[in-house]
Amino acid sequence: MTISVSPYISKVYDAAIARNPGEPEFHQALGEVLESIAPVVAQHPEYAEAGILERLVEPERQVMFRVPWVDDAGRVRVNRGYRVQFNSALGPYKGGLRFHPSVNLSIIKFLGFEQTFKNALTGQGIGGGKGGSDFNPHGTSDGELMRFCQSFMIELTRHIGQYTDVPAGDIGVGTREIGYLFGQYRRLMNRHESGVLTGKGLGWGGANVRTEATGYGVVFFLQEMLAKRGETLEGRTAIVSGSGNVATYAIAKLQQLGAKAITVSDSSGYIVDQAGIDLELLKQVKEVERLRISAYADRRPGAHFVASGRVWEVPGQLAIPAATQNELGSDDAAALIRNGVVAVAEGANMPSTPDAVELLQQAGVLFAPGKAANAGGVAMSALEMSQNAARERWGFEESEARLSGIMSDLHAAAYDASEKYGHPGDYVIGANAAGFVRVAEAMLAQGLI
Ligand code: NDP
Repeated sequence: MTISVSPYISKVYDAAIARNPGEPEFHQALGEVLESIAPVVAQHPEYAEAGILERLVEPERQVMFRVPWVDDAGRVRVNRGYRVQFNSALGPYKGGLRFHPSVNLSIIKFLGFEQTFKNALTGQGIGGGKGGSDFNPHGTSDGELMRFCQSFMIELTRHIGQYTDVPAGDIGVGTREIGYLFGQYRRLMNRHESGVLTGKGLGWGGANVRTEATGYGVVFFLQEMLAKRGETLEGRTAIVSGSGNVATYAIAKLQQLGAKAITVSDSSGYIVDQAGIDLELLKQVKEVERLRISAYADRRPGAHFVASGRVWEVPGQLAIPAATQNELGSDDAAALIRNGVVAVAEGANMPSTPDAVELLQQAGVLFAPGKAANAGGVAMSALEMSQNAARERWGFEESEARLSGIMSDLHAAAYDASEKYGHPGDYVIGANAAGFVRVAEAMLAQGLI
């Protein structure tokens, strides 16, 4: 990828690419953000003078470490752990942990970089970071998972804390994993520091609506975008990918608001269920029995499983990619457009390739980048931290109302910035610009750090 928006931005981008060779996902995220903040940088020469961009693209700290553990057969296994602390101008580093065999430094850096702007956009006092491991939770026993989490935390403990860095879940890390990580942190530090991790269970410091927040938030954002055009979710059919936390609760909120999700997927293939996804069955298959998604079709009359092919070929008016990065390419975007898609909201981080985004926007499809659409999760994590600090727990309805308000504010911030910088309705530019300005102003005020 090359970008040619201004000599200053191109210089920063080229230097960052040269300094971080072999990291395609990080390069992609850098290119997307730097390109879209060009109109902001042009209006603020002081940012270039203070080297804001040069500093922003360099993480404040990157940690990589060995994670040894013993499997059930008594064999020693070794994984690699990561924590990239990208930017703390607005608050403690904040971002999830991903456990997936594909995890590498490039993926963690792209996620940490994106997280910085997303967190700024929420308006909460949180910086950006991300971490994880190439550990594969599929097929491991509960004991193996616990031993891995304990070993991972022995090292991570040195780098985190409620005022330093507050990890949460991401792919492969849910309440169960957060539980083992929190238990080990508590044991090592000899203190019950609730605010060190978010996504905790409700009985031990967790917050209402944190589990649902990302998926619900995506749908609230979608609702706001449609409302801007005088449209609603009512009666619409949605194509959803993934079948984990984000997909599940996006589907739940779609159903509550009168729309119908007819697909889910995992890395083995996808399900089409024209009657609408049965959430109880989905949770039973994926969360309780931890089976592959084909088991859903085995038990649901009328649903079918497709092992090869692309979920984006299934016709629908709404699309929510909620699995992983680069899962929606230009052919997929073309198929969605052919089938009359009206809006795409990214539940996952960077699921659409730059070509796909361009095609969708050119076709007049409403497009919400993950940075804005999936920010409800981290926003509620910040509220989990507030509740931990105050030793309070807010009720479900109050928490959901706050989430809805945050998504509405976030939509307005992204839309207003898109107008201010000359691209009304372009939420990619709007979200990047609004988040960037908040971080850049804090960095300017805090001197050369
Ligand atoms: P989960 O682990 O709960 O679910 C991930 C889903 O995506 C699973 O169905 C998984 O299938 C599928 N998936 C993962 N990798 C691949 C792959 N390489 N190819 C195809 N399918 C894949 O994760 P989440 O729902 O938490 O996260 C999904 C996305 O949302 C990620 O991009 C994450 O960064 C993003 N996100 C999550 C937030 C949260 O609060 N959880 C907040 C903001 C963003 P399989 O089981 O086969 O691997």
